[in-house]
Amino acid sequence: MTNKKKTALKTTDGVSGSEMINPSYISKFKSKRTKTLNTDKLVKGILNQKISELSRAITLIESTNQQHQQQANDILKQCLPHANNSIRIGITGVPGVGKSTFIEAFGEHLTSKGKRVAVLAIDPSSSISKGSILGDKTRMETLVKNNNAYIRPSASGDSLGGVARKTRETIILCEAAGFDIILIETVGVGQSETAVHGMVDFFLLLKLANAGDELQGIKRGIIEMADAIAINKADGDNQKAAKLAKVEFNRALHLYPKKSSGWTPKVSLCSALKNEGIDAIWELVLEYISLTRSSAYFNKKRIEQNKFWLIQTIENRLKSDFFSRTEIKKELENQLTLVEKNKTTPFAAAEFILRLNKSL
Ligand code: GDP
Repeated sequence: MTNKKKTALKTTDGVSGSEMINPSYISKFKSKRTKTLNTDKLVKGILNQKISELSRAITLIESTNQQHQQQANDILKQCLPHANNSIRIGITGVPGVGKSTFIEAFGEHLTSKGKRVAVLAIDPSSSISKGSILGDKTRMETLVKNNNAYIRPSASGDSLGGVARKTRETIILCEAAGFDIILIETVGVGQSETAVHGMVDFFLLLKLANAGDELQGIKRGIIEMADAIAINKADGDNQKAAKLAKVEFNRALHLYPKKSSGWTPKVSLCSALKNEGIDAIWELVLEYISLTRSSAYFNKKRIEQNKFWLIQTIENRLKSDFFSRTEIKKELENQLTLVEKNKTTPFAAAEFILRLNKSL
């Protein structure tokens, strides 16, 4: 800390430099700062589209501190009536397919049309390996400087369920802060794309030409979830292969049952790098939204998603409460040893622990 800064702090808080580095002062200072994060002020800031307040509220959502969680719930409750007005788009694809390049181009396109865009990410790897495949702000260098865009890296957590909950709540805050389009990015190699599919209106799968499905690590289920497939990197020498891939994917899509939305998934070509075909993908989204709004499917799907998340939240909470009980943890260790030594069956062990839980 420079002397200049120390003096500035001294005049504001009336303390000396040595007092400032004293731990009790630091904690006093911190608690003062926490108190200033007043719920009403935060809500007001969010509704006034203030990014700093929005970010602070998201940090509360992500916090494991109970007081913060309570405050986050209060904020969410007040923001809820102002939410729900955006188009939520999920974007998935294997690492290297061009997700961040695409989001950069797509985001710029949308903001040039006067839209405000929030980019969120679900990155299960960050919770498991503590390293992140996604969600790094530096990946979208232009968009991050755009005043009409907000990029929030993936929340961390010890389970996908936890990360997904935080992202869903973050969507509500972003909508209350007036974002028209919420882009939710994830890697299409695990369970996370199912979680994202369950929280968006439109699901976009990015693919590459010249790569078999095994190579791309894409499961059949993901293709089934897609409302559109965009074959990216359709530029240079790759154009011919991309056109062929389009025919192949169109053929493959016809093998899937008709969607309850009444929408027929489309295949598009694009080059995120050269900014080609990006507008056509936005037109597809608009076409989908118009069709599903006129059939009332749009709202029905959101209601179904909310009901699903209610059940999911209960399941997650019950599970985490159960496994965090001291007695359960202890007995689980015992029973795991017994299973290991072949002295009991997994089912009998589970029954024993569940009975114990009931008796507690
Ligand atoms: P992500 O891992 O899915 O987010 O992929 P990135 O957006 O980081 O892109 C991976 C690499 O592919 C980078 O070197 C990009 O420059 C390149 N790339 C992305 N989109 C295109 C495209 O449309 N055409 C070409 N030729 N390269 C692209």
